[in-house]
Amino acid sequence: MDDQVLSQTYAAALPELSIPWQADAPPRPELLWLNEELAGELGLDPEQLRTPDGIALLTGQVDEQGCPRPSLAHAPEHPFTTAQVYAGHQFGNPNPQLGDGRAVLLGDLRGPAGSRHDLHLKGAGATPFARAGDGKAPLGPMLREAVVGESLHALGVPTTRALAVLGTGEQIAPRQGVTPEPGAILVRAAASHLRVGTFEYAAWHLGTEVLERLVEYAIERHHPAARAAANPSLSLLEAVVQEQATLLAQWMLVGFVHGVMNTDNMTISGEGIDYGPCAFLDRHRHGAVFSSIDRGGRYAYGNQPGIALWNLSRFAETLVRLIDEDPDVAVEQATAVLERFEPTYLDAYARGMAAKLGIPTADGGGRLDAVRSMGAEVLALLEEQQVDHTGFFRALSDGDPSALFADPTPFRAWHERLLELRGAGPAADEARAGMMRANPVHIPRNVHLDAALRAAHLGDLDPVLTLLDAVREPFERRAEHAHLEGPGDGGEDFLTFCGT
Ligand code: AMP
Ligand code: MG
Repeated sequence: MDDQVLSQTYAAALPELSIPWQADAPPRPELLWLNEELAGELGLDPEQLRTPDGIALLTGQVDEQGCPRPSLAHAPEHPFTTAQVYAGHQFGNPNPQLGDGRAVLLGDLRGPAGSRHDLHLKGAGATPFARAGDGKAPLGPMLREAVVGESLHALGVPTTRALAVLGTGEQIAPRQGVTPEPGAILVRAAASHLRVGTFEYAAWHLGTEVLERLVEYAIERHHPAARAAANPSLSLLEAVVQEQATLLAQWMLVGFVHGVMNTDNMTISGEGIDYGPCAFLDRHRHGAVFSSIDRGGRYAYGNQPGIALWNLSRFAETLVRLIDEDPDVAVEQATAVLERFEPTYLDAYARGMAAKLGIPTADGGGRLDAVRSMGAEVLALLEEQQVDHTGFFRALSDGDPSALFADPTPFRAWHERLLELRGAGPAADEARAGMMRANPVHIPRNVHLDAALRAAHLGDLDPVLTLLDAVREPFERRAEHAHLEGPGDGGEDFLTFCGT
């Protein structure tokens, strides 16, 4: 499209880690939603994406050079697009072989800002890595991923994003006993699709030379500063630990529950990826679980930072032989890097909590400890009195949230201490004003998202578009979106069933 040229830099650098694969041609593709803002960031012309050439591109119908191929006469003998292989730990158990079972990598392109982005299609038909499923994707989960990605992005949280959602013209049944849903394709833009599971696959099945090339590719693409480091593998680990620690702090602050933090759903870029049975908290609960498959609560809200560190430890294990030829030395060095996860997380979390509570942190240090304990205390109060996470912080920004508490006395005592900690003067005023940019009015509330997806299933996209509109300006209170602000009824028992 335009001057934009799709490349397959990953397949070129690491032919062992993907196979050429052609996406199925959908019978009646229809562009349901196009992310024009993101198209612009990628250097793609939204108008062109709406043409038959654009639809061909967005459904993976490209020729051997990656150019759109609207005529469906014959599939290319050597497909340009690829399916990536990876492994992973799923709910703690190693799975030696996973991969793009229903997705293809369209390719990567360099945006106007200079950075490379992958374009990836989900729901493109079964590949040789398909597990059980038919390779298709139902509309609901694809729209859900689009909405969640846009919301997180607007909240300033690193994330993969949807460039487009297309209907395929097919009806598919995701599970037995479930009414068939319209089939869909999600076109996803990501800094890359390198996952912890990609490194696990290379470490478990391929030689050190491939692993070295994978490290080199990851460094080149995401953490170029590590190139010049004395120990590039260790430096890569350090960068990923840093990015994931800050990502997790942000998830916890906005009350986001990913739901399936398997190592194959954790990126090397530091972006969140694969939003399946995920949800934002309504009332604050440390143990909140929204995924029907997470029976043990492994991926509960409050467990997420610990799980991230567990996943990073699996990542570190794949790098041991590159870090030092003496495994004892390598493990010692990797452990020292992993130990930095906690302080990095706590620091990012405390700074974010300070912004949410309107406490200036310019003088740093001691005050961050106080912020941390003030945050923990108020979250315990929210949990005890079943108060809404997002609603509380916004009400605190707007003025007095005591009406949200059944018994406001402990909150009032806490609030007195908050005012003391905040202090007075220009820094305090600025922090107080900044709360409006730290505490959203709009998140994709479970009940509203679910209702919007049900409407979409029945052919009415308007509620999803309205919700997208609200969550893309999360800090703006707008009269026309007032009905989307609160948790609605029944949000607490919400469970999601979608795969990722
Ligand atoms: P997860 O991301 O943890 O849900 O695991 C996804 C794995 O299941 C990947 O290997 C996917 O490619 C595969 N998968 C999920 N849904 C389907 C489907 N409908 N058809 C084929 N494979 C699928
Ligand atoms: Mg996945």
